[in-house]
This record gives sequence, C-alpha cells and structure tokens, in this order.
Amino acid sequence: MSDTTLILLGAGGSTRFKVDVKKQWLYSGDTPLWLHVAQTFASVGAFKKIIVVSSKEEIDFMQNFANFLYVEGGDSRQASLTHAMEHVDSEYVLVSDIARCCIDKETIQRILDAKTKASCIVPVLSVVDTLYLEGTPIDREKAKIIQTPQLSIARILKKALKTTKSFTDESSAIAYLGESVAFVAGSPMAHKLTTVEDLAKLSCLKAPSSKTLTGFGVDIHPFESGKTMFLCGVQIDTAYGFKAHSDGDVAIHALIDALLGAAGMGDIGELYPDTDDTYKGADSKVLLRDTVRKLTSFGYVLGNVDLTIMAETPKLMSYKSHMRQSLASLLGIGQHLVNIKATTAEKLGFVGRKEGVVVYAVANLTYFNWKTL
Ligand code: MG
Repeated sequence: MSDTTLILLGAGGSTRFKVDVKKQWLYSGDTPLWLHVAQTFASVGAFKKIIVVSSKEEIDFMQNFANFLYVEGGDSRQASLTHAMEHVDSEYVLVSDIARCCIDKETIQRILDAKTKASCIVPVLSVVDTLYLEGTPIDREKAKIIQTPQLSIARILKKALKTTKSFTDESSAIAYLGESVAFVAGSPMAHKLTTVEDLAKLSCLKAPSSKTLTGFGVDIHPFESGKTMFLCGVQIDTAYGFKAHSDGDVAIHALIDALLGAAGMGDIGELYPDTDDTYKGADSKVLLRDTVRKLTSFGYVLGNVDLTIMAETPKLMSYKSHMRQSLASLLGIGQHLVNIKATTAEKLGFVGRKEGVVVYAVANLTYFNWKTL
C-alpha cells in the first residue's frame, strides 16, 4: 500500500466535549485514543506515510509516542486537510477523523479495495428512519449517511481543496469538481466521538490503565539581594530573593519538572525556555497553572506531590502550612495530597554556606478514567 498516504485529522478543540480532557487524549489501556486509531489503520497495511494533524502544543507531546509526520492544523477541518495535503506525494490519500475511533479493519479494507472505482471512495450507511426535508417526507432509499475514512486520488483532492467554498468532507469537494464518487458499505460501529454521551457507544476502547506514573524534579537557585523571594507561590519575608530569569520560585520549578517527568513531557526549560522573553520575570504560579492545564487536557489526573526544600536560610517552618495551601490551590488537589518538607544541609556545601536553595519534588499522575463519566 505504498501508493497511499493516511491522514488522521485531530486538530479540533473538543469544544462540544465538555470535559477538560481533549477527546484524542482519552486512554484505552496505555494508549491515547489518537494512537489507537493510527494503530488500527496501520494493522490493515503499510501506508507510505502516516500524517497526524493536531495543535502545535499536542504535536510536541505526540512525537514521544510514534514516528509519524505531525502537521499543525488550521482553523477548520478543510484548512487542516489542506495543510496535510502539502506533504502527500502518493497516488492515493485516505483521510479519517480521529474522532471516528472505533472504525473496524474490514471497513478500512473495503475502502482500500475499491480505490480504482472512482476519484473518491466513501463508506456509507443507509437511512433506517423516516426523513423529512423542510417539512416534507423524502424517500429514505435515496438518502445516505456519509462516513469517514474516505479514499481519494491525491491529485484530484488537492485540486478540489483549492476552492474558496467550504466542504464538510472530501467527497463533497470532489463531487463539486464534477469528479466521480463511489460508495462502499460503511460501519454502524464507526460512531463519531463528539459529546461525552458518545463514550457509551465506543465498545472498542478499554478502560485506561490504572497504573501510577511517577516523576522527579530538582532545581537550584542562588540568592540575590534586593529581590523578593517566593517559594511554592508564597512570599517569604527576607532581604534577598533568587537569581533567575523568572521570579525564581525554585520549589515550583522543581515541582513542574516532577509533573512533566511523570507525564514524559520533557522539562521546564523545553516548555518555558529562559531564552524566551515571554518568561522574563515570569510568575511561576502562572507556569504551574499552565502545566496543570496541559496535563489535564492530555488525559492525566494529579495524584499527590511531595517536596523537600533544602535551605540553611531562611527558616521556613512558619511558612509550610501556607505553602501547602498555595500548591493545593494551584494544582487543584486536596491539601492532604501536598507534602512540604524543609531541611538544612547541616552547613555543608553551597546550601550550608547560605549561597542558595535546592528543592527536590516527586509527583504522581494517573490516567483520566473516562469510563466513570
Ligand atoms: Mg529554576
């Protein structure tokens, strides 16, 4: 099947999904939904190329899972498809929506087998209910429900997408050009995941794995006089703060690295580079909130976090309770799931010489269990 490229469209913002998790990041076992779909297609045959269209933020993370070609989506399905088509150099292109996640191998095979029959091959379902159009009943035998994936001759689809008219699928764009469209039997199981209620129909997906993912983070900052000190988002009453590109909240930085570590998302420097002026003097609380938003949208649930702050000075005992409340609020978890430990270095090393502070953090994550929705 080296004459066919697979495009999976997943750039939508899940606006109708109404939970904070993006639907492409619901897990079946240890596999996110978008990868589950790609694997179903790949199990039918080897494609010349697999292109996954998604948002920029997700692409950075998706690259950890599989070596596909990732392309940034546009404002609409058609714009996303047009971006992806720029990378297609095969005779045929099979386009599917990640949301149609329980597509079966037999339907995919039927579509591929029919590729020489027309410029676009479309899976369809017949209509079993009575249909009215503008108040008048119509012959349901003449109506069809159109599904994806659809297989097109790449050259013709590229031409069809050059129009300014907008289409909801490839077949309508190709038919608009006057090119041929052929139908094959679709799959009644290939529901499109649009709303939370649709989840009940997706029998092909297992519950997410119940494993706990653990991450570790460490950060060090030297003292700098005349700056305001923040630890865990709490202002500490001292004459010195931390030398840093951001506000220098060394505890939050270690915690962000622990969270990113648990999710396999790299480190704080990759997500919020200190070479980027956007983060100059940045409030670390904003970075932590953004990290939590990312983790949530990518299908993770925060478990507990545990931090050890090693400081000879300042004395932190009186701040610990406030720090715990601050982090619990930023993370959106209970205070009992946040532990703060403070210790000295017994006058040893740079911490002992009162040159700076080191913080170690551990964080646990689980996958969001959508089966309980
Ligand atoms: Mg830092």
